[in-house]
Amino acid sequence: MSDKLTLGMEAMRAQMDTRVMSYMSSCVHCGICAEACLFYTETGDARYTPIYKVEPLRKLWRQEYTFWGKLAASMGLSKKLTEEDLANWEELVYDGCTMCSRCSMVCPVGIDIAYMIRKVKEGLAAAGFSPEGLVEAGKRAVEIGSPMGVTLKTLDATIRVQEKETGLKIPMDVEGADYLCLFSSGEIAGFPEFIGSLAKIFRATGVSWTISSEYFEATNTGVQLGNSKMAATLVERVVSAAEKLKVKNVISPECGHAYTTIRWDAPNFIGRPLPFRVVHIIELLDELRRDGRLKTEGVNTDRLSYHDPCNAARRGGVIKQPRDLLAMVAPNFTELPETGDMNWCCGGGGGVSSNERADPLRLKVFDAKKRQLDAIRPEGLVTACSNCRHMLEDGLEENEMHDIELLGITELIADHLVEESG
Ligand code: SF4
Ligand code: SF4
Repeated sequence: MSDKLTLGMEAMRAQMDTRVMSYMSSCVHCGICAEACLFYTETGDARYTPIYKVEPLRKLWRQEYTFWGKLAASMGLSKKLTEEDLANWEELVYDGCTMCSRCSMVCPVGIDIAYMIRKVKEGLAAAGFSPEGLVEAGKRAVEIGSPMGVTLKTLDATIRVQEKETGLKIPMDVEGADYLCLFSSGEIAGFPEFIGSLAKIFRATGVSWTISSEYFEATNTGVQLGNSKMAATLVERVVSAAEKLKVKNVISPECGHAYTTIRWDAPNFIGRPLPFRVVHIIELLDELRRDGRLKTEGVNTDRLSYHDPCNAARRGGVIKQPRDLLAMVAPNFTELPETGDMNWCCGGGGGVSSNERADPLRLKVFDAKKRQLDAIRPEGLVTACSNCRHMLEDGLEENEMHDIELLGITELIADHLVEESG
Protein backbone atom coordinates (compact mmCIF):
# COMPACT_ATOMS: atom_id res chain seq x y z
CA MET A 1 0.00 0.00 0.00
CA SER A 2 1.40 3.43 -0.93
CA ASP A 3 2.31 5.97 1.77
CA LYS A 4 -0.25 8.42 0.41
CA LEU A 5 -3.04 5.87 0.58
CA THR A 6 -2.04 4.85 4.10
CA LEU A 7 -2.10 8.48 5.27
CA GLY A 8 -5.43 9.15 3.56
CA MET A 9 -7.05 6.02 4.99
CA GLU A 10 -5.75 6.75 8.50
CA ALA A 11 -7.17 10.27 8.34
CA MET A 12 -10.55 9.03 7.14
CA ARG A 13 -10.66 6.27 9.77
CA ALA A 14 -10.14 8.98 12.39
CA GLN A 15 -13.22 10.76 10.96
CA MET A 16 -15.44 7.64 10.93
CA ASP A 17 -17.87 8.65 13.69
CA THR A 18 -21.36 7.32 14.35
CA ARG A 19 -22.92 10.03 12.19
CA VAL A 20 -20.88 9.02 9.17
CA MET A 21 -21.62 5.33 9.72
CA SER A 22 -25.34 5.85 10.14
CA TYR A 23 -25.45 8.15 7.09
CA MET A 24 -23.63 5.58 4.98
CA SER A 25 -25.96 2.80 5.99
CA SER A 26 -29.08 4.98 5.47
CA CYS A 27 -28.53 6.14 1.89
CA VAL A 28 -31.26 4.69 -0.35
CA HIS A 29 -29.49 5.78 -3.55
CA CYS A 30 -32.49 7.79 -4.71
CA GLY A 31 -30.34 10.48 -6.35
CA ILE A 32 -32.58 13.32 -5.12
CA CYS A 33 -29.54 15.19 -3.80
CA ALA A 34 -28.24 15.66 -7.37
CA GLU A 35 -30.97 18.13 -8.32
CA ALA A 36 -30.14 20.29 -5.29
CA CYS A 37 -26.48 20.71 -6.22
CA LEU A 38 -25.48 23.57 -8.51
CA PHE A 39 -22.43 21.65 -9.71
CA TYR A 40 -24.73 18.94 -11.06
CA THR A 41 -27.58 21.13 -12.31
CA GLU A 42 -25.30 23.56 -14.13
CA THR A 43 -22.94 20.99 -15.70
CA GLY A 44 -25.21 17.96 -16.12
CA ASP A 45 -22.20 15.85 -15.08
CA ALA A 46 -23.35 12.93 -12.90
CA ARG A 47 -19.97 12.81 -11.15
CA TYR A 48 -21.06 15.96 -9.29
CA THR A 49 -23.96 14.12 -7.63
CA PRO A 50 -23.42 15.00 -3.94
CA ILE A 51 -23.38 11.49 -2.51
CA TYR A 52 -20.96 10.34 -5.23
CA LYS A 53 -18.44 12.94 -4.00
CA VAL A 54 -18.07 11.00 -0.74
CA GLU A 55 -17.39 7.68 -2.49
CA PRO A 56 -13.83 7.25 -1.07
CA LEU A 57 -15.27 7.45 2.46
CA ARG A 58 -18.11 5.07 1.50
CA LYS A 59 -15.65 2.54 0.09
CA LEU A 60 -13.57 2.64 3.26
CA TRP A 61 -16.69 2.31 5.43
CA ARG A 62 -17.94 -0.65 3.43
CA GLN A 63 -14.65 -2.54 3.32
CA GLU A 64 -13.73 -2.03 6.98
CA TYR A 65 -16.91 -1.34 8.95
CA THR A 66 -19.60 -3.65 7.51
CA PHE A 67 -19.90 -7.42 7.81
CA TRP A 68 -20.56 -8.07 4.11
CA GLY A 69 -17.92 -5.55 3.07
CA LYS A 70 -15.30 -7.18 5.26
CA LEU A 71 -16.26 -10.61 3.97
CA ALA A 72 -16.13 -9.49 0.33
CA ALA A 73 -12.78 -7.76 0.90
CA SER A 74 -11.31 -10.84 2.59
CA MET A 75 -12.39 -13.00 -0.37
CA GLY A 76 -11.04 -10.49 -2.89
CA LEU A 77 -14.55 -9.91 -4.26
CA SER A 78 -14.70 -6.13 -3.85
CA LYS A 79 -12.70 -3.23 -5.22
CA LYS A 80 -10.56 -1.75 -2.46
CA LEU A 81 -9.95 1.96 -2.01
CA THR A 82 -6.87 2.95 -3.99
CA GLU A 83 -4.52 5.91 -4.24
CA GLU A 84 -6.00 6.50 -7.70
CA ASP A 85 -9.45 6.90 -6.11
CA LEU A 86 -8.11 9.63 -3.84
CA ALA A 87 -6.37 11.38 -6.75
CA ASN A 88 -9.52 11.18 -8.88
CA TRP A 89 -11.75 12.62 -6.16
CA GLU A 90 -9.58 15.70 -5.46
CA GLU A 91 -11.20 17.77 -8.20
CA LEU A 92 -14.74 16.56 -7.39
CA VAL A 93 -14.45 17.43 -3.72
CA TYR A 94 -12.39 20.64 -3.74
CA ASP A 95 -13.44 22.22 -7.04
CA GLY A 96 -16.92 20.74 -7.29
CA CYS A 97 -18.36 21.40 -3.83
CA THR A 98 -18.76 24.59 -1.81
CA MET A 99 -20.02 22.70 1.26
CA CYS A 100 -23.19 24.79 0.87
CA SER A 101 -25.40 22.03 2.40
CA ARG A 102 -28.26 22.49 -0.08
CA CYS A 103 -28.11 18.76 -0.80
CA SER A 104 -28.41 18.02 2.91
CA MET A 105 -31.76 19.88 2.92
CA VAL A 106 -33.44 17.59 0.40
CA CYS A 107 -32.17 14.14 1.35
CA PRO A 108 -35.29 12.15 2.34
CA VAL A 109 -33.39 10.22 5.02
CA GLY A 110 -31.66 13.26 6.50
CA ILE A 111 -28.08 12.65 5.41
CA ASP A 112 -25.85 15.68 5.95
CA ILE A 113 -23.71 15.24 2.87
CA ALA A 114 -21.74 18.45 3.44
CA TYR A 115 -20.67 17.04 6.82
CA MET A 116 -19.25 13.99 5.06
CA ILE A 117 -17.56 16.07 2.34
CA ARG A 118 -15.50 17.61 5.13
CA LYS A 119 -14.51 14.15 6.32
CA VAL A 120 -13.42 13.17 2.82
CA LYS A 121 -11.33 16.34 2.63
CA GLU A 122 -9.46 15.22 5.76
CA GLY A 123 -8.41 12.06 3.94
CA LEU A 124 -7.47 13.82 0.71
CA ALA A 125 -5.52 16.56 2.51
CA ALA A 126 -3.60 14.01 4.60
CA ALA A 127 -2.73 12.10 1.43
CA GLY A 128 -1.52 15.25 -0.29
CA PHE A 129 -4.38 15.53 -2.77
CA SER A 130 -5.45 19.15 -2.20
CA PRO A 131 -5.34 22.09 -4.60
CA GLU A 132 -2.19 24.18 -4.44
CA GLY A 133 -4.05 27.50 -4.01
CA LEU A 134 -5.79 26.25 -0.88
CA VAL A 135 -2.65 24.60 0.51
CA GLU A 136 -0.75 27.89 0.13
CA ALA A 137 -3.65 29.81 1.74
CA GLY A 138 -3.42 27.38 4.67
CA LYS A 139 0.32 28.00 5.04
CA ARG A 140 -0.23 31.77 5.06
CA ALA A 141 -3.05 31.38 7.61
CA VAL A 142 -0.72 29.55 10.00
CA GLU A 143 2.47 31.53 9.37
CA ILE A 144 1.12 35.05 8.79
CA GLY A 145 -2.29 34.77 10.45
CA SER A 146 -4.27 35.39 7.27
CA PRO A 147 -4.95 33.18 4.22
CA MET A 148 -4.46 36.20 1.99
CA GLY A 149 -1.31 37.36 3.78
CA VAL A 150 -3.00 40.39 5.38
CA THR A 151 -0.70 41.56 8.20
CA LEU A 152 -1.33 43.73 11.24
CA LYS A 153 0.47 46.53 9.38
CA THR A 154 -2.10 46.27 6.56
CA LEU A 155 -4.97 46.27 9.04
CA ASP A 156 -3.50 49.29 10.84
CA ALA A 157 -3.25 51.19 7.55
CA THR A 158 -6.85 50.23 6.67
CA ILE A 159 -8.04 51.37 10.09
CA ARG A 160 -6.28 54.74 9.71
CA VAL A 161 -8.08 55.34 6.39
CA GLN A 162 -11.44 54.39 7.93
CA GLU A 163 -10.79 56.63 10.96
CA LYS A 164 -10.13 59.53 8.60
CA GLU A 165 -13.29 58.80 6.60
CA THR A 166 -15.59 58.42 9.61
CA GLY A 167 -13.88 60.81 12.03
CA LEU A 168 -14.11 58.04 14.65
CA LYS A 169 -11.45 56.24 16.68
CA ILE A 170 -11.46 52.51 15.92
CA PRO A 171 -10.64 50.63 19.13
CA MET A 172 -7.67 48.25 19.24
CA ASP A 173 -6.74 46.01 22.20
CA VAL A 174 -9.30 47.48 24.62
CA GLU A 175 -9.33 45.16 27.65
CA GLY A 176 -12.78 44.41 29.03
CA ALA A 177 -14.70 45.52 25.92
CA ASP A 178 -18.04 43.73 25.49
CA TYR A 179 -17.36 42.57 21.94
CA LEU A 180 -14.24 41.41 20.08
CA CYS A 181 -14.72 41.79 16.34
CA LEU A 182 -13.02 39.47 13.85
CA PHE A 183 -12.66 40.22 10.14
CA SER A 184 -12.06 38.08 7.11
CA SER A 185 -9.02 39.01 5.04
CA GLY A 186 -11.38 39.45 2.10
CA GLU A 187 -13.18 42.19 3.99
CA ILE A 188 -10.02 44.04 5.00
CA ALA A 189 -8.62 43.89 1.49
CA GLY A 190 -11.81 44.23 -0.55
CA PHE A 191 -14.45 45.97 1.55
CA PRO A 192 -12.60 48.09 4.15
CA GLU A 193 -15.63 50.37 4.51
CA PHE A 194 -17.21 47.50 6.50
CA ILE A 195 -14.85 48.44 9.36
CA GLY A 196 -15.82 52.13 9.18
CA SER A 197 -19.51 51.15 9.07
CA LEU A 198 -19.11 49.11 12.25
CA ALA A 199 -17.43 52.05 13.98
CA LYS A 200 -20.36 54.29 13.05
CA ILE A 201 -23.03 51.79 14.12
CA PHE A 202 -21.35 50.83 17.39
CA ARG A 203 -20.84 54.47 18.35
CA ALA A 204 -24.47 55.30 17.59
CA THR A 205 -25.77 52.31 19.52
CA GLY A 206 -23.33 52.54 22.43
CA VAL A 207 -21.71 49.13 21.86
CA SER A 208 -18.34 48.64 23.56
CA TRP A 209 -16.06 46.79 21.13
CA THR A 210 -12.48 46.17 20.16
CA ILE A 211 -10.20 44.56 17.61
CA SER A 212 -7.26 42.42 18.76
CA SER A 213 -3.79 43.16 17.35
CA GLU A 214 -2.83 39.62 18.34
CA TYR A 215 -5.40 37.91 16.10
CA PHE A 216 -8.14 39.37 13.92
CA GLU A 217 -8.76 36.73 11.24
CA ALA A 218 -12.18 35.07 11.05
CA THR A 219 -11.50 32.77 8.10
CA ASN A 220 -10.62 29.22 9.07
CA THR A 221 -8.69 27.72 6.17
CA GLY A 222 -8.26 24.48 8.12
CA VAL A 223 -11.98 23.78 7.60
CA GLN A 224 -11.85 24.61 3.90
CA LEU A 225 -8.81 22.41 3.41
CA GLY A 226 -9.94 19.54 5.61
CA ASN A 227 -7.19 19.83 8.19
CA SER A 228 -8.68 19.59 11.69
CA LYS A 229 -5.33 20.25 13.34
CA MET A 230 -4.95 23.51 11.45
CA ALA A 231 -8.60 24.37 12.18
CA ALA A 232 -8.00 23.84 15.91
CA THR A 233 -4.83 25.98 15.85
CA LEU A 234 -6.73 28.86 14.25
CA VAL A 235 -9.64 28.54 16.70
CA GLU A 236 -7.17 28.56 19.62
CA ARG A 237 -5.82 31.89 18.36
CA VAL A 238 -9.28 33.44 18.54
CA VAL A 239 -9.78 32.02 22.03
CA SER A 240 -6.38 33.31 23.20
CA ALA A 241 -7.04 36.82 21.81
CA ALA A 242 -10.50 36.91 23.42
CA GLU A 243 -9.21 35.65 26.78
CA LYS A 244 -6.38 38.19 26.87
CA LEU A 245 -8.80 41.04 26.27
CA LYS A 246 -11.38 39.50 28.66
CA VAL A 247 -14.25 39.98 26.22
CA LYS A 248 -17.68 38.37 26.74
CA ASN A 249 -18.66 38.11 23.08
CA VAL A 250 -16.95 37.50 19.75
CA ILE A 251 -18.44 38.90 16.57
CA SER A 252 -18.15 36.80 13.45
CA PRO A 253 -18.13 39.27 10.56
CA GLU A 254 -19.79 39.13 7.16
CA CYS A 255 -18.34 35.72 6.28
CA GLY A 256 -20.51 32.63 6.13
CA HIS A 257 -18.20 29.72 6.79
CA ALA A 258 -16.25 31.69 9.44
CA TYR A 259 -19.51 31.93 11.38
CA THR A 260 -20.30 28.22 11.11
CA THR A 261 -16.80 27.35 12.24
CA ILE A 262 -16.51 29.60 15.28
CA ARG A 263 -20.20 29.35 16.26
CA TRP A 264 -20.85 25.62 15.84
CA ASP A 265 -17.65 23.67 15.19
CA ALA A 266 -15.03 25.43 17.31
CA PRO A 267 -15.70 23.62 20.62
CA ASN A 268 -15.30 20.27 18.88
CA PHE A 269 -12.03 21.33 17.27
CA ILE A 270 -10.46 22.38 20.57
CA GLY A 271 -12.25 19.87 22.83
CA ARG A 272 -13.80 22.35 25.25
CA PRO A 273 -16.56 24.98 25.33
CA LEU A 274 -15.73 28.48 24.15
CA PRO A 275 -15.32 31.01 26.98
CA PHE A 276 -17.45 33.58 25.13
CA ARG A 277 -20.68 33.93 23.18
CA VAL A 278 -20.38 34.00 19.38
CA VAL A 279 -22.69 36.23 17.39
CA HIS A 280 -22.85 36.93 13.66
CA ILE A 281 -22.71 40.66 12.95
CA ILE A 282 -26.19 40.48 11.39
CA GLU A 283 -27.59 38.83 14.52
CA LEU A 284 -26.06 41.61 16.63
CA LEU A 285 -27.41 44.39 14.39
CA ASP A 286 -30.85 42.80 14.60
CA GLU A 287 -30.62 42.55 18.40
CA LEU A 288 -29.78 46.27 18.49
CA ARG A 289 -32.76 46.96 16.21
CA ARG A 290 -35.12 44.96 18.44
CA ASP A 291 -33.82 46.76 21.54
CA GLY A 292 -34.60 50.08 19.88
CA ARG A 293 -30.93 51.09 19.89
CA LEU A 294 -30.36 50.88 16.14
CA LYS A 295 -32.32 53.60 14.38
CA THR A 296 -32.25 54.51 10.71
CA GLU A 297 -33.53 57.39 8.64
CA GLY A 298 -34.27 57.62 4.92
CA VAL A 299 -34.56 54.68 2.56
CA ASN A 300 -33.05 53.20 -0.56
CA THR A 301 -35.93 53.16 -3.04
CA ASP A 302 -34.20 50.79 -5.48
CA ARG A 303 -35.67 47.34 -5.95
CA LEU A 304 -33.23 45.49 -3.69
CA SER A 305 -33.00 41.76 -3.12
CA TYR A 306 -30.95 39.59 -0.76
CA HIS A 307 -28.52 36.73 -1.36
CA ASP A 308 -28.49 34.42 1.69
CA PRO A 309 -24.94 33.25 2.42
CA CYS A 310 -25.24 29.44 2.67
CA ASN A 311 -23.46 29.00 5.97
CA ALA A 312 -25.16 31.87 7.79
CA ALA A 313 -28.64 30.99 6.48
CA ARG A 314 -28.70 27.25 5.91
CA ARG A 315 -26.37 26.08 8.66
CA GLY A 316 -26.82 29.04 11.00
CA GLY A 317 -30.50 29.98 10.66
CA VAL A 318 -29.69 33.67 10.11
CA ILE A 319 -32.59 34.25 7.71
CA LYS A 320 -35.17 36.50 9.38
CA GLN A 321 -32.62 38.93 10.85
CA PRO A 322 -31.29 40.38 7.57
CA ARG A 323 -34.84 40.74 6.25
CA ASP A 324 -35.96 42.60 9.38
CA LEU A 325 -32.97 44.91 8.98
CA LEU A 326 -33.69 45.44 5.29
CA ALA A 327 -37.32 46.29 6.12
CA MET A 328 -35.96 49.42 7.85
CA VAL A 329 -34.26 50.83 4.76
CA ALA A 330 -35.47 49.01 1.64
CA PRO A 331 -39.22 49.54 1.03
CA ASN A 332 -39.05 47.95 -2.41
CA PHE A 333 -37.36 44.76 -1.24
CA THR A 334 -38.12 41.75 -3.45
CA GLU A 335 -37.25 38.14 -2.67
CA LEU A 336 -35.33 35.99 -5.11
CA PRO A 337 -37.09 32.73 -6.02
CA GLU A 338 -35.85 29.77 -3.92
CA THR A 339 -34.44 31.84 -1.12
CA GLY A 340 -33.68 31.55 2.62
CA ASP A 341 -32.59 28.03 3.53
CA MET A 342 -33.02 26.85 -0.07
CA ASN A 343 -31.06 29.70 -1.63
CA TRP A 344 -28.61 28.74 -4.36
CA CYS A 345 -24.94 29.06 -3.44
CA CYS A 346 -22.89 31.80 -5.14
CA GLY A 347 -20.43 29.09 -6.23
CA GLY A 348 -17.34 30.36 -4.40
CA GLY A 349 -17.71 29.02 -0.85
CA GLY A 350 -15.90 26.28 1.05
CA GLY A 351 -12.50 27.33 -0.27
CA VAL A 352 -13.47 27.07 -3.96
CA SER A 353 -12.63 30.72 -4.59
CA SER A 354 -9.14 30.22 -3.08
CA ASN A 355 -8.52 27.47 -5.60
CA GLU A 356 -7.61 29.07 -8.93
CA ARG A 357 -7.93 25.77 -10.75
CA ALA A 358 -11.68 25.89 -10.05
CA ASP A 359 -12.22 29.37 -11.57
CA PRO A 360 -13.88 28.21 -14.83
CA LEU A 361 -16.15 25.80 -12.93
CA ARG A 362 -17.25 28.33 -10.29
CA LEU A 363 -18.12 30.82 -13.04
CA LYS A 364 -20.05 28.10 -14.88
CA VAL A 365 -22.12 27.14 -11.84
CA PHE A 366 -22.92 30.82 -11.23
CA ASP A 367 -25.62 30.17 -13.86
CA ALA A 368 -27.84 28.98 -10.97
CA LYS A 369 -27.55 32.42 -9.34
CA LYS A 370 -28.01 34.10 -12.71
CA ARG A 371 -31.32 32.27 -13.19
CA GLN A 372 -32.53 33.45 -9.80
CA LEU A 373 -31.52 37.04 -10.56
CA ASP A 374 -33.01 36.99 -14.06
CA ALA A 375 -36.38 35.97 -12.57
CA ILE A 376 -36.75 39.31 -10.77
CA ARG A 377 -33.81 41.36 -12.11
CA PRO A 378 -33.29 43.51 -8.98
CA GLU A 379 -31.52 46.87 -9.13
CA GLY A 380 -29.39 45.95 -6.15
CA LEU A 381 -28.32 42.71 -4.48
CA VAL A 382 -27.50 42.85 -0.78
CA THR A 383 -25.56 40.16 1.03
CA ALA A 384 -23.80 39.49 4.34
CA CYS A 385 -20.67 37.58 3.36
CA SER A 386 -17.53 39.10 1.87
CA ASN A 387 -16.66 35.84 0.11
CA CYS A 388 -20.11 35.78 -1.53
CA ARG A 389 -19.62 39.42 -2.50
CA HIS A 390 -16.34 38.65 -4.27
CA MET A 391 -17.93 35.70 -6.09
CA LEU A 392 -21.06 37.68 -6.99
CA GLU A 393 -18.85 40.47 -8.36
CA ASP A 394 -17.03 37.96 -10.55
CA GLY A 395 -20.27 36.29 -11.68
CA LEU A 396 -22.06 39.54 -12.51
CA GLU A 397 -18.98 40.78 -14.40
CA GLU A 398 -18.63 37.51 -16.32
CA ASN A 399 -22.31 37.69 -17.35
CA GLU A 400 -22.24 41.44 -18.03
CA MET A 401 -25.01 42.05 -15.49
CA HIS A 402 -23.77 45.55 -14.82
CA ASP A 403 -27.24 46.87 -13.97
CA ILE A 404 -27.23 45.04 -10.62
CA GLU A 405 -25.41 46.86 -7.83
CA LEU A 406 -23.85 44.82 -5.03
CA LEU A 407 -24.23 46.01 -1.45
CA GLY A 408 -23.10 44.83 1.97
CA ILE A 409 -25.90 44.90 4.52
CA THR A 410 -23.79 46.47 7.30
CA GLU A 411 -22.73 49.35 5.03
CA LEU A 412 -26.33 49.80 3.85
CA ILE A 413 -27.54 50.16 7.44
CA ALA A 414 -24.63 52.50 8.30
CA ASP A 415 -25.55 54.72 5.34
CA HIS A 416 -28.99 55.30 6.86
CA LEU A 417 -27.95 55.46 10.51
CA VAL A 418 -29.38 57.94 12.98
CA GLU A 419 -26.15 58.97 14.60
CA GLU A 420 -27.27 59.37 18.18
CA SER A 421 -26.17 57.20 21.08
CA GLY A 422 -28.60 54.41 21.91
S1 SF4 B 1 -22.77 20.83 -0.27
FE1 SF4 B 1 -23.59 22.12 -1.96
S2 SF4 B 1 -22.01 22.08 -3.52
FE2 SF4 B 1 -21.55 20.40 -2.09
S3 SF4 B 1 -22.51 18.60 -2.95
FE3 SF4 B 1 -24.01 19.51 -1.57
S4 SF4 B 1 -25.26 20.91 -2.85
FE4 SF4 B 1 -23.38 20.39 -4.00
S1 SF4 C 1 -30.72 12.11 -1.43
FE1 SF4 C 1 -29.90 11.08 0.41
S2 SF4 C 1 -30.63 8.97 0.22
FE2 SF4 C 1 -30.87 9.89 -1.80
S3 SF4 C 1 -28.93 9.42 -2.88
FE3 SF4 C 1 -28.66 11.42 -1.96
S4 SF4 C 1 -27.69 10.98 0.04
FE4 SF4 C 1 -28.59 9.03 -0.70
